[in-house]
Amino acid sequence: MPTNATRRKIRILFAGAEAVPFCKTGGLGDVAGSLPRALKQAGAKVAVIIPKYSSIPQKYKDQMRHVADFYVPLAWRSIYCGIEKLELDGLDFYFVDNEDYFKRDAGLYGYFDDGERYAFFSKAICEAIAHVPELECDVLHCNDWQTALCPVFLREFYRGVPACNNVKTVFTIHNVKFQGQYGDKLLHDVLGLDGIQAARDQLYCDRESINYMKGALCYSDMLTTVSPSYATELQMPFYGEGLDPIFRRRQGSLAGILNGIDMDVWNPATDPMVGTNYDAESLEKKAENKVALQRELGLREDPTRPLVVMIGRLTNQKGLGLVRYAMDQIMSRSVQVAILGTGDKDQEEAFRYFDNKYGDMMSATIAFDNALSHRMYAGGDILLMPSEFEPCGLSQMIAMRYGTLPVVRETGGLRDSVVPYNKYTGEGTGFRFTNMNAQEMADSLLGACEVFWTQPDMWKRLQLQAMSTDFSWHRAANDYMDIYHGLHPEIIRYSKRRDG
Ligand code: ADP
Repeated sequence: MPTNATRRKIRILFAGAEAVPFCKTGGLGDVAGSLPRALKQAGAKVAVIIPKYSSIPQKYKDQMRHVADFYVPLAWRSIYCGIEKLELDGLDFYFVDNEDYFKRDAGLYGYFDDGERYAFFSKAICEAIAHVPELECDVLHCNDWQTALCPVFLREFYRGVPACNNVKTVFTIHNVKFQGQYGDKLLHDVLGLDGIQAARDQLYCDRESINYMKGALCYSDMLTTVSPSYATELQMPFYGEGLDPIFRRRQGSLAGILNGIDMDVWNPATDPMVGTNYDAESLEKKAENKVALQRELGLREDPTRPLVVMIGRLTNQKGLGLVRYAMDQIMSRSVQVAILGTGDKDQEEAFRYFDNKYGDMMSATIAFDNALSHRMYAGGDILLMPSEFEPCGLSQMIAMRYGTLPVVRETGGLRDSVVPYNKYTGEGTGFRFTNMNAQEMADSLLGACEVFWTQPDMWKRLQLQAMSTDFSWHRAANDYMDIYHGLHPEIIRYSKRRDG
């Protein structure tokens, strides 16, 4: 222990482009809404910083209070930035305010100037640490490409600034597919980094483009991703999306920490969105949710058919090609399938076609419907998730919490969260298959149906094992705390690590 060691709460500034309940497009929003709270419980002093989008509900905007304003240097520009604050359930949220960048109507991302918008956001975070005392921190925890330039800027522009000198950076990869790649014109026009050779070397990904995530991977003190298996996969060319050499080089600083789920929101015993609440002691009541779901979706009301549900984005990542290929085989075995999702047009069309073809045995709801997703987790028997890659995946954890057994491909967080059924010992919380192969998936799914049909006691045992798995954020928060304190050995942990 260093001689200057002190016991105090470590200060974490958690930066991301979205956070529930203010704005969400995917898993990052869920994580940024839940993990900071768990970190606080684990003994950290936490603040969250996100952009102030115009789409944030008015009731939250009304509660925000102005904390500071300053001008952010962005190459040759100097751009206004306001910092607003809101306290929600005891947690401090800060919002970066600039209407030119964040007052947009068509969603959070996908604009022609995203590269500039999130360069501004990242630089504004650095300025805020430098000049707003309540945002001083020991660790800046950045998430995904939208905040990937923070570690770069901090090192290149803020080294002499007292509030920034001792800030360590952690960068979490939620999905390596989205890296923030832009033309190199931004280097001198927006980032102001063209004169710094080291930064140029790290940011360039080919002769004419720069890559924000690559910058974070090279400059951050620690890298994390959202499951241990994905941390290994990122080092392979198949999964690394061109960045695998950097992940291999930095493997000593790369950790995989499985995400949690909000155990209060996803709780079959109290969920107000499901018709009949149940828990491990009253598992038989789950059947009422199944009948209600069959009725709602126009499926044949039959408790003896296994009801397979799929909930998620309809994109190639989710292994839908396998499902489409095996659909006729699956449907020939008296299995019901219900899909909820939106995404690529060709995928949507394909599942509409199957809905039409299989009448009261198949249902495709092409929509984003949170309430229906709750009823499907509660009413389904099996959740199918044959993803090509899956950094963490939340759906399979939610399904297990509701006693709906997942059938998953062994990849990323699916491998780390689903214990495969062992017919000899009765262990397991779901079913797994290995290869991106439609027949293998069908065999695994129909094998699960076999247990459903022929071994009801075993099925119930697996359900109870799945429902009793701890997917709370508590474990993950403790692992992140270990990482933060590893970067600051001079700060003694405020409260002891507690497991379980
Ligand atoms: P990803 O982050 O890759 O989209 P995850 O499994 O990590 O996948 O998280 C998806 C989350 O979004 C889950 O909570 C799932 O229930 C929810 N979700 C996805 N699609 C829909 C939909 N069409 N309607 C309602 N909820 C959805």
